[in-house]
Amino acid sequence: MTPRIPFNHPTLIGNEAAYVAQALASGHISGDGAFTKRCHALLERTLGASRVLLTSSCTHALEMAALLLDLQPGDEVIVPSFTFVSTVNAFVLRGARPVFVDIRSDTLNLDERQLERALSSRTRAIVVVHYAGIACEMDTISALAARHGIPIVEDNAHGLFGRYRGRWLGTLGSLATLSFHETKNYTCGEGGALVVNDPHLVARAEVLREKGTNRSRFFRGEVDKYTWVDLGSSYLPSDLSAAMLLGQLEEQDHVQARRKELFDRYMEGLWDWAHTSGVGLPQIPPECTPAYHLFYVRLPDEAMRSRFIRWLDSQGVHSVFHYVPLHTSPMGRRYGYAAGDLPMTEAVSDQLARLPFFFGLSRAQQDRVIRAAVSFPMNAA
Ligand SMILES: *Cc1c(COP(=O)(O)O)cnc(C)c1O
Repeated sequence: MTPRIPFNHPTLIGNEAAYVAQALASGHISGDGAFTKRCHALLERTLGASRVLLTSSCTHALEMAALLLDLQPGDEVIVPSFTFVSTVNAFVLRGARPVFVDIRSDTLNLDERQLERALSSRTRAIVVVHYAGIACEMDTISALAARHGIPIVEDNAHGLFGRYRGRWLGTLGSLATLSFHETKNYTCGEGGALVVNDPHLVARAEVLREKGTNRSRFFRGEVDKYTWVDLGSSYLPSDLSAAMLLGQLEEQDHVQARRKELFDRYMEGLWDWAHTSGVGLPQIPPECTPAYHLFYVRLPDEAMRSRFIRWLDSQGVHSVFHYVPLHTSPMGRRYGYAAGDLPMTEAVSDQLARLPFFFGLSRAQQDRVIRAAVSFPMNAA
């Protein structure tokens, strides 16, 4: 039997193992060692951000963002419902109330035309997710946020090295977060980063990440002892994680080129089938250069989507769906939301199937996925 094609397999590409061995040999394996510094420098230099700080996860970076924005109980945060739970939970943890906005049917990103009416005098942040690594309509969103003096946080878990009008995703909000979870484009197992674009937030971000102490300033020789100065927690990853991550980040061009190739091959291989079967494919607005995080198809309805996933499974291909809308979840309902409130989010959540999409997916494997998809019996009972 031919082996099954997994949905995901973590990227392994360059010097990861050699760097981890170096970190072990160096005797410094706790946070903020040599490899963490190299990851910070690489990301700051590439993105042109004021500061990049590795964290133990994107979830933790989002929690840091909520702390940095000083969110208080009763504050409102505008968020998509079509996203991973941490995008919202990080703010809910501070007592903020999520105000869910529906998504666009083309990019599946926050629908900027619906933002204005979600605003209130209590709105403290707009959180955007560049779904699949394709940018939100940031010109419109940024102009609206600036007009009302509301900071933007980019949950850029999907979008590292994607661009919007030539600018890097993750540099368009006051703060942005990255994920290096094993399912993401670059990984160290579990990991993340906070990208600080607003220079006024840099000093406090360092303190929050270092248990509320000014340890970073101490190590730079700016103060002669370090002490407790603010709220904080332990958000820094071990240098072993950073060592693995550096091995991947250094291969940025290679990773992005490979993922673009996989994306383009899916588009080409599925195009005719999709257009004759009423199946939707990803749409890329001309101002967006994707980060190529994932590949999805949109079936006409939920029953067909379930049948499609089962069909692929029978052909040895593992495909998955996501996201279960947050506004109709038990927590979402506690905030007064109900099914029917965000029709596009609910429809997309029912229709979407994600195909295997990872760095090590071979052409032969991808061809098998494409053959399995285009032979799906659309009309079977
Ligand atoms: C993966 C993901 C996260 C969480 O990342 P972790 O590093 O696992 O905490 C947050 N938001 C989005 C949109 C994600 O896809």
